[in-house]
Formats: sequence, structure tokens, C-alpha cells
Amino acid sequence: ETADIVLSVNNIEVIYDHVILVLKGVSLAVQRGGIVALLGANGAGKTTTLKAISNLLRAERGEVTKGTIEFNGERVDRLSPNELVRRGCIQVLEGRHCFGHLTIEENLLTGAFTRRDGNAAIRRDLEAIYAYFPRLKQRRSSMAGYTSGGEQQMCAIGRAMMSRPSMILLDEPSMGLAPQIVEEIFEIVRQLNASEGVSFLLAEQNTNMALKYATYGYILETGRVVMDGPAQMLRENEDVKEFYLGVS
Ligand code: ATP
Repeated sequence: ETADIVLSVNNIEVIYDHVILVLKGVSLAVQRGGIVALLGANGAGKTTTLKAISNLLRAERGEVTKGTIEFNGERVDRLSPNELVRRGCIQVLEGRHCFGHLTIEENLLTGAFTRRDGNAAIRRDLEAIYAYFPRLKQRRSSMAGYTSGGEQQMCAIGRAMMSRPSMILLDEPSMGLAPQIVEEIFEIVRQLNASEGVSFLLAEQNTNMALKYATYGYILETGRVVMDGPAQMLRENEDVKEFYLGVS
């Protein structure tokens, strides 16, 4: 009955520094082929949730102390981040994290680090990624550090795509970008979803934009899911409108 669920997070609790309880029992599920938005104010726990899934909390002195995480029906909460990437789930960190002194193309190629299928396949995928991101093709020889914020965000997503993921955890792609660029990036996310079948879990403070592209959404408040539903239902919900969409 869970065959169409690609990722499930079941009642996880996260504690930082042994004492700071930040996630207080978070559960969520991503349908295969879905774009699921994880919404909430600054500090609600979105980044913590994504890092818990990809096992990146240790560097932050954080720990999952309760609950389970399953990817493709298997427990993954003890896997290394690299092993999870090998299985098809990769995170694009908040703040983009390109290597500034490498070119855009070199950055994209670093994304193939878990692959063992050889150069020809990697080159082919690079060209496929350029087809989704024409701006990256134009800028392929530029140092990433000298490209725009939007181009760096595209580079970070393109780099993730080079690992041939079935699921991308995308943290706050709109951060610091003009609305038009955010729209351009979300359009590409939609195409990657539709054409490559990549599922997305998208953490966003930009509720309006996220609900325009997502199929389903969860709203986090201080470490708890307070509401969830199909994106259209959330868009029409009076509380969501008042508190998150800035209209009432
Ligand atoms: P943002 O939009 O800022 O990323 P968020 O919803 O992703 O917000 P988190 O970054 O997950 O929220 O933070 C959730 C809570 O955990 C916040 O109260 C934050 O101060 C706290 N927190 C985050 N990282 C740490 C850490 N390394 N040590 C202690 N507390 C932390």
C-alpha cells in the first residue's frame, strides 16, 4: 500500500547540542513523482527536517532522537549522506553552495562523484542538463563565483541532477532572488519533475510561489506540522491566506 510513497518521515524528533528540541514529532510523505512543499516561517524547522533526512545533522551537533525515515520503502536513518545519494536522494543545500573558483561546468561535473558508469554517460547527462538550463550552457566556462545568484542556484540544482537522483531535497531555492528568477527556477523544477520523474521536497518561506508549483504541502510551526493538504486546498485555506499568503 506504500508503493507510491517514495519518502516517508515518521514522527521524528531532533535535538541540537543534546538539549535543544527543535523537531517535536514531524511526519510527512512524498508521493512518487510529487512536488511537496515544506512551508513555515524562518526557524520553524524546515532546514532541520531536510538535514535529518539526508543525515547532515551531525556537523551541526544535531541528532534524530526518535522516529524513522524511509526512502523507497527502506529505512535510511543510519545511512551516510553519500550512500543516500547513491540510492537516489540528494539535497541541494540552502545558500546554493557552488564552488566559486570552479567553472559552472566543473561544478556540474563534481555532481557525478557517486557514479561509476563512465565518461560518455556523464557527458551525455551534462548536455541534457544544459538543455534544461540554457543559462548554464552560456556560462559553462565562467567561474561560478562570478555568476549571478540565480545562475548559482541553477548550478546547484544541475549539480544535484548529475547524480541521477529520483528525489531532490531542495532548501529555499528562492532565497535572495528576484521573483522573475524564482519563477524561472521553479519552471525548470516542474520540467525536471515532469520529464525526468524526479520527486521534490521543497522547503520554502515563499509560500505563494511554492504552492503554485507544488502538488501537496505541509506547514511547520515551531517543530510541528500544523496543517497539510493538496496545494490547491492550502492556497484556498483562510488561515493560510491570512498568515502565509499575506491576504485576508
Ligand atoms: P530557515 O528559513 O532559517 O532555514 P528553518 O525553518 O529551516 O528556517 P531551521 O534552520 O531548521 O529552521 O531551525 C529550526 C530551529 O533550530 C531554530 O530555532 C534554530 O535556531 C534552531 N537551530 C538550527 N540549527 C541549530 C544548531 N546547529 N544548534 C542549535 N539550534 C539550531
